[in-house]
Amino acid sequence: MQNILIIEDEKRIAHWVKTYFERAGYSAEVAHDGKVGLAIARESSPDLIVLDLMLPGIDGTEICRRLRQESDVPIIMLTAKGTQPDRLNGLDIGADDYIVKPFDPEEVVARARAVLRRVKGTVQKSITIGRLTINTDAHSASLNGHSIDLSQAQFALLLAFAQHQNQVLTRDQLIELAFNGRYDAFDRAIDTHIRRLRKLIHEDGFEPIQTVYGAGYKFSVEAK
Ligand code: CA
Repeated sequence: MQNILIIEDEKRIAHWVKTYFERAGYSAEVAHDGKVGLAIARESSPDLIVLDLMLPGIDGTEICRRLRQESDVPIIMLTAKGTQPDRLNGLDIGADDYIVKPFDPEEVVARARAVLRRVKGTVQKSITIGRLTINTDAHSASLNGHSIDLSQAQFALLLAFAQHQNQVLTRDQLIELAFNGRYDAFDRAIDTHIRRLRKLIHEDGFEPIQTVYGAGYKFSVEAK
């Protein structure tokens, strides 16, 4: 479960945003002042921070600046003022997005989801699934510690599978996930890529790419 840290001194707003995140399936914690917020951000490495600009202790701008020196954690800034210089400043200091009060908490959750989707794969540098390790930075993968020679398309497909384990994916979804929809070959070509990918990563007792007849494919290392 992804963890959201909300640094906001207005308790009612903080609670409200927390509730919306929890309803959307995230875990969320709240800090009501800048100092505490910064300490929690460092200790608990949240997946995303919702950060108010005007805070007692250390203000949001300063927290953002300090965190940026240490990590790439996604930050969405909240501010009461929507003037242009404020917006620019917020993005300038490294916030990933900016929301002006008053806001709809559902919009905060939606923006957070978009930011998290954008940074996915850049935050987590390697993914290990059973005998398989995928390095998202180097665009490489290894099986039982031996590197596998993958084409760009095969790597993109493998990563898409790894990030959506145990989900049935249609060919269209795979094209969207792996190639951002920029793939105009016949969808049978996907089957060819997958067949080759299987040959590279499958071995006795480890066959994660499963065909789901009439639907698509599923990547799973759980017992069937
Ligand atoms: Ca405030």
